[in-house]
This record gives sequence, C-alpha cells and structure tokens, in this order.
Amino acid sequence: MHSNLTQKAYLKAMGIDIWLRRDAAGPECDAPLPGGPSPAADPIAAGGPAASDDELSRLDWQALQAKVSACTLCELHQGRTQTVFGVGNQQADLLIIGEAPGAEEDRQGQPFVGRAGQLLTAMLKAIKLERQDVYIANILKCRPPNNRDPKAEEARLCSQYLKRQIELIQPKLILAVGRIAAQRLLQTDSSLSKLRGQLHQYALTNTPIIVTYHPAYLLRTPSDKGKAWQDLLFVQRTLGDPGKAG
Ligand code: URA
Repeated sequence: MHSNLTQKAYLKAMGIDIWLRRDAAGPECDAPLPGGPSPAADPIAAGGPAASDDELSRLDWQALQAKVSACTLCELHQGRTQTVFGVGNQQADLLIIGEAPGAEEDRQGQPFVGRAGQLLTAMLKAIKLERQDVYIANILKCRPPNNRDPKAEEARLCSQYLKRQIELIQPKLILAVGRIAAQRLLQTDSSLSKLRGQLHQYALTNTPIIVTYHPAYLLRTPSDKGKAWQDLLFVQRTLGDPGKAG
C-alpha cells in the first residue's frame, strides 16, 4: 500500500498535477458517471472462431500459451520474433488490454515494456497498483509490421486466445487502453472520447470494461493526462478497495 505522498509522486511521474487538475475539472470529479453497462455484440459471432471454441475452452494456461506460441492463423506470424502472450497475476482483479506488441515487446516477449509501458506502469502506481498486481495483454499477440493498426481479421483470429485468457483470469474489470482495444473488445466504431466515462461490458464473459487513452497517445498528448487520471479514478472506484486488487 502506498502513502498519499507516494501516490502524489507517481502522479507527478505521470505528468499530472492532481491539485490543478481537480480544480480544473470542478464538480465533474464527483459527478456520477453517465450511463450504465452497455453490452456489446458478440465479437466471435462477428465472423466465427478460427479454432474450435470447445477445444480452446478446455485449455489451461500452459496449453493456451503453447497454442499461441505455435499460432500461424494470420500473416503476422511470419514477421514476429516471438509471440507476446501476456504477463502478470493470473488471478488479477484488473486486466489491462492494449493494442499489439511494438518492437521492444516483440524483442522481449512481454507487453508494454517500451516507453508507453513505462507510462502505463506509472499510471497503475498512481492508483496504488503494481504491474504484478494486474494482468496485461493485447488484442494481438504478434507485432504488426511498422506498428500499423491491427487488421479486423487479425483481431478476430486472435480474439479467441484473449477470450480464453479472460475466462481463466475472471477479472472484476477490464481496462481497455486506446481506441483499437476499446473498439475491438466492444465491437464498435465509436470514438474513444465517446467510450470513455462509461461502464461497458465484454459480451462473451459479461466482464465490465472501462476505456481510457493509450499511454503512447498520452506521451504525444500530455494535455489529456488529466482525463486519463479521471479514468483511473473510475477504475479505482469500480474495483472497490484497490488494496485488494490482484
Ligand atoms: N502498445 C500496446 O498497445 N501494447 C504493447 O504491448 C506495447 C505498446
């Protein structure tokens, strides 16, 4: 458990002046969040699973990771150094889902280890969570060339693995970081700004989802870090006692 002082230090590391931001945000800080859970369409039903759902639903962590490592369902397997399966607490209350591995993640085999990953770590610390308290995964397990956006078909094929990870973890909450993760998980074309601030649902497991900015975006647009902080407070409130998360 961190003291408030430590939390302020982490907020500073995130580039957030909590006092200024609270003043700027005004009463909105304490306002009830708009909208209730918004169930999304079934992502798998959108095109049908590439492997038998039944087969995957019986896989344990080890078998699932082996299946992912050997995956050749889309062309991305040709360019990967290795798959980036996911990392963290397999019983976590909070599951973070990003977009896809970048160059550094492809090299190290772990999600969010580059600059964006460092900011993600600071964001978690700001709500008193360590990386090992949560589980971190991506929509795609393989790096797209030149960091291009995942194609819809790549995301669809890979979604069966993520779905099984979600079933195994049974998190209380998913935090989708960035537009791609949010849109793929919720099967929507809505903009990130429309999706923020509401409790959505991952339809296949009825898991609540909160949406926030991708840390890579926040590195480019630090002026939106205050809004990301509001999202993190929403995560904290939704999880209940953050000390219990993970
Ligand atoms: N960006 C992501 O969305 N995921 C990673 O693992 C790294 C960067």
